Amino acid sequence: MSANLSPVLKQATPVVVDHASGSWIHGTDGRDYLDFTTGIGVTSTGHCHPEVVAAAQAQCAKIIHAQYTTVMHQPLLELTTKLGEHLPAGIDSVFYANSGSEAVEAAVRLARMATGRQYIVTVQRGFHGRTVAAASLTTAGTRFAAGFGPLMSGVAQTPYPDALRLGMTEDEAVDYALAEFDFLLATRVDPRELAGIVIEPVLGDGGYMAVPQRYLQGLRERATAHGALLVLDEVQAGVGRTGRFWGHQHTDGLVPDVIITAKGIASGFPISAIAAPEEIMAKAWPGSQGGTYGGNAVAAAAAVATLEVVEREGLVANAAERGTQLLDGLRRSLADVGEICDIRGTGLMLAVEFGDASAPAGSPAALEGARLAGAVQQACIDEDLLTLTCGPTGAIVRIIPALVVTPDEVDTGVERLARAVHRVVG
Ligand code: PMP
Repeated sequence: MSANLSPVLKQATPVVVDHASGSWIHGTDGRDYLDFTTGIGVTSTGHCHPEVVAAAQAQCAKIIHAQYTTVMHQPLLELTTKLGEHLPAGIDSVFYANSGSEAVEAAVRLARMATGRQYIVTVQRGFHGRTVAAASLTTAGTRFAAGFGPLMSGVAQTPYPDALRLGMTEDEAVDYALAEFDFLLATRVDPRELAGIVIEPVLGDGGYMAVPQRYLQGLRERATAHGALLVLDEVQAGVGRTGRFWGHQHTDGLVPDVIITAKGIASGFPISAIAAPEEIMAKAWPGSQGGTYGGNAVAAAAAVATLEVVEREGLVANAAERGTQLLDGLRRSLADVGEICDIRGTGLMLAVEFGDASAPAGSPAALEGARLAGAVQQACIDEDLLTLTCGPTGAIVRIIPALVVTPDEVDTGVERLARAVHRVVG
């Protein structure tokens, strides 16, 4: 008998990789693709950065799996020290898992145990993963919950200050969303039962939108006032991607209680973490968190090498500079395209949104936006450029280059994307 991959895997491109390096994927079809997907924001130092490869290879020869509740290993201790250099003052305790979803689950568990309360509030359009708690927190698209329910109870959503769709100024949208949050606490979630607020500092799969500073500050104030934890899901936005080490550092003075990180931290090796003040972490019962593979030694060694490369090669600054170059280039080359309603970006998380942003989900206008974005993403493949779509209706082309992307690669990417867009819209 032969087997095939399950059709449940929805593939964005037909590309089969032979090998990859930096910003480039070399397909078995002999073509060289400029990779503006980075494995959904994972290969931060580019594909197969020599130092990350060397660190992983060296670690493989020492020990591959040293189960962290059985014997501790050096890469995890080194990673904890290194990560600590980037954590806000007071956030000094780290727990490791394998994936973003697992870390989200761990953060929910921690918030509930640390507060003795049940409710988690997340914002609409947020994406937090596909495991049961993570899917319960997710509202980036019904496909992440479909067929999986009933989901976890004790979760409520609050509107995102979505100025574009609400047809408001950012200030008006923030006032509206904070009032809705307060309304939620007055009508559904008793603040005395609020364990935590979980939010991405830049929405990822839900639409690549930077959360307004004043909204994050408003949530911080409310979490503090009600004795709940502010949990920042930095799985996609963290480790330099937005042009600051953490996405929440775009908000002046913001100090979260818990930070969730994964993806870019190890350049492609599966490892994730939550970080919180020791006194919060200590409220989780010993042994309640953990897992067979969590904090794998090879992944941890790759993460240490990744952080060293990010620091030494100035990749956070490069993400900011190349992000500005890319945003300017897209805005210049696509200025005449009426089918585009917004071009936005924070560092190297960029989005080109198609159609009518205010169209209700499921309406013909919303479906047209999704059709255009899908067609552009496919036309990009013909231009040897890999991109992805995102957003609840799929009307957004998202651009996620490696943090090592060069000025020339940015120019090439802009040219290819503009050609693809013009081929689709005529
Ligand atoms: N949180 C955010 C913000 C994410 O972007 C993702 C993945 N796209 C996740 C959580 C889930 O991570 P994973 O796919 O590794 O489980």
